[in-house]
Amino acid sequence: MQIPFDNSYARLPDRFFTRMTPVPVREPHLIAFNAPLAAELGITPADDTTLAQVFAGNQMPEGADPLAQAYAGHQFGGFSPQLGDGRANLLGEVVRDGHRVDIQLKGSGPTPYSRMGDGRAWMGPVLREYVLSEAMYALGIPTSRALAAVATGETVYREPGAMPGAILTRVAASHIRVGTFQYLAARRDTDGLRALYEHVIDRHYPEATDPADLLSRVIDRQARLVAQWMSVGFIHGVMNTDNTTLSGETIDYGPCAFMDSYHPDTVFSSIDRQGRYAFSNQPNVIVWNMAQLATALVPLMPDADAAVEAFTEIVHAMPALTQSYWRQAFGRKIGLTEATPADETLITDLLSNMAHGQADFTNTFRALGDGTAREQFSDPALFDDWESEWRTRLEQEHEPHALMRAVNPVVIPRNHRVEQMIDAAVAGDFAPFERLNHVLARPFEPDPDAADLRRPPQSSEIVHQTFCGT
Ligand code: AMP
Ligand code: MG
Repeated sequence: MQIPFDNSYARLPDRFFTRMTPVPVREPHLIAFNAPLAAELGITPADDTTLAQVFAGNQMPEGADPLAQAYAGHQFGGFSPQLGDGRANLLGEVVRDGHRVDIQLKGSGPTPYSRMGDGRAWMGPVLREYVLSEAMYALGIPTSRALAAVATGETVYREPGAMPGAILTRVAASHIRVGTFQYLAARRDTDGLRALYEHVIDRHYPEATDPADLLSRVIDRQARLVAQWMSVGFIHGVMNTDNTTLSGETIDYGPCAFMDSYHPDTVFSSIDRQGRYAFSNQPNVIVWNMAQLATALVPLMPDADAAVEAFTEIVHAMPALTQSYWRQAFGRKIGLTEATPADETLITDLLSNMAHGQADFTNTFRALGDGTAREQFSDPALFDDWESEWRTRLEQEHEPHALMRAVNPVVIPRNHRVEQMIDAAVAGDFAPFERLNHVLARPFEPDPDAADLRRPPQSSEIVHQTFCGT
């Protein structure tokens, strides 16, 4: 098989990574191959056996320059100067239509950055990331994508016990993280910082003029991203600085999940005991992460004091920016083409009524456009008062129902469906995985054959916790 590689990260100083091949696995078996994405990337098709060998890391395609990237990061607020790809391997990059993307294996074996880990992944998190990242893409949210999933034929030991191992191949604009800058800044490696800065400018922000401008642009993309997450009820779950990209894409799907019934304090991740990464705290955490990026960029500026002052101002402007993206996104969800600050209480009142009425996030917004939202509330009176104010405001809009149907998904990867899919896959049945991918590829179109995927979980089906899978 042919992958048209052009590997720019591998041309950076070699202290940025460790050149190494993935560790081969015993008996690779192809679970999924995203043929449309492969075609977009100019990857020529191959038989399943070859695909399994390549995407397990057993066979290196021509032109690959495999490596594990070094990075640092704040994990739950505490700084680790040395993280890095402990279970991932960057095969290389592909340029298509002027866009450069990474092709990376996750779960591909131990690296010098593995610390205590085994460098592997079990099938659960691999299929979860496959389904969720492709669903996010279909929802129009910037994200890494899934190119392939391979079962390794090996056993991995995790919380649930002895589990089948798997490897995900993901495609991202890059895997450069806030933590990649922090890695160099923590080592006082200003030459390295400059080389990384130039690389990021070339690759993601060719129009940026200096580090302050880069910071503003990253902040803009991250503000928009977090607002988009919120607009579909998505909780990333581990917004550590090593999981926050410079590109503004969602990466590192771990214990992430979509909410069913709305509550702002919702947390799924088993390790997030303080709720640091709770649904409604995501806009605060991203500011904190951007402040860490700002700190790492200071050595690139000629005058540190002036830089700190300028960067502080830029970071302090972020909450208002996120708020405005949030307002636009939620405004559209209730049928407003251009929500103004005066419309914010209409949005927040609905959300607080939804929290009180245990309304399902996805189904309530979708039902607004269909005129059936009232049924979503445990106490429909919670909807009625709000509805009259809303209808008055809608009189100023032309086609609010068409707008709502265009932006409010019918179907999202509900947590209980994802867990049921994983249980089936572990037992050897991949039909639920294939079905989820198929239905979630068109999230705005009602599919009469997939009504079951729209239903919130019954109380016995509710998944209260999700795990990193590490
Ligand atoms: P995460 O929380 O998944 O973003 O991972 C944080 C850090 O732990 C990264 O440096 C990962 O490479 C590393 N890590 C996670 N799982 C494993 C594993 N099974 N083996 C080795 N390193 C891991
Ligand atoms: Mg990570």
